[in-house]
Amino acid sequence: DFKLEMKNVSKSFPGVKALDNVQLSVRPGTVHALMGENGAGKSTLMKCLFGIYKMDQGEILLDGEKVEINNPDEAMEHGVAMVHQELQPVLARSVAENMYLGRFPVHKLGPLQVIDHNKMHKETEKWLSELGLDYNVKAPLSSLSIGQMQMVEIAKAVSHDAKVIIFDEPTSSLSDKEVEFLFKVMGDLKKKGVSMIYISHKMDEIKRISDDITIMRDGTYVGTWRAEDMTTDQIIARMVGRELNNIYP
Ligand code: ADP
Ligand code: MG
Ligand code: MG
Repeated sequence: DFKLEMKNVSKSFPGVKALDNVQLSVRPGTVHALMGENGAGKSTLMKCLFGIYKMDQGEILLDGEKVEINNPDEAMEHGVAMVHQELQPVLARSVAENMYLGRFPVHKLGPLQVIDHNKMHKETEKWLSELGLDYNVKAPLSSLSIGQMQMVEIAKAVSHDAKVIIFDEPTSSLSDKEVEFLFKVMGDLKKKGVSMIYISHKMDEIKRISDDITIMRDGTYVGTWRAEDMTTDQIIARMVGRELNNIYP
């Protein structure tokens, strides 16, 4: 039984078929690496799952049930959270406000004025401390480094009690220490049965953290394998579409 399935997903932009009949099956409590060269369609597939893009064709199943996800609020209501490849920080707002903004579907949160600021600060401190972080939650986000801002985004996604968390190239601006925190948190989430989709080009991270690997190429689905069954050369060969004995022409 899969926690998450995406079936026959197609998506075109003017002049580009970004996804052509793509599949994804993620087991409960696993880290599922989504790999492919730049432009393969990884982010587009995840934006379809998170309701940022509307699929031209295809379906999404969570715990075996077909779901309609038309926007990020609906994705979050279905227990899907996303750490975006492009950071979307509101620099002038505090760390706590950035944790809160967009954390809940808007209609459940209400305007910022009615938020209990004490509660917001306490909860934010608690969420951050679970990732081993002790930033000043009242300080403007602009006081943090890019890596620290990324950690706030990660803490925000993790704090959702999501069933599926999408990490789209989360470590690109993280320090080694921050990467270690992230991997520890991901290990804890696995034990809780949370499924994670992990997009990265860093082969050492993939080898360390992933249980399964799905490979995409030019908007198409190449296949899914157990991570332990694939060597780095096999992963690269399948990403670029070359025979194994000829990956470095
Ligand atoms: P990846 O995340 O694997 O690097 P993307 O999903 O970002 O790939 O992109 C897949 C293809 O879709 C690329 O050709 C890209 O240029 C195109 N694409 C992605 N988003 C858009 C968009 N909003 N408008 C037009 N083309 C897009
Ligand atoms: Mg890319
Ligand atoms: Mg991408």
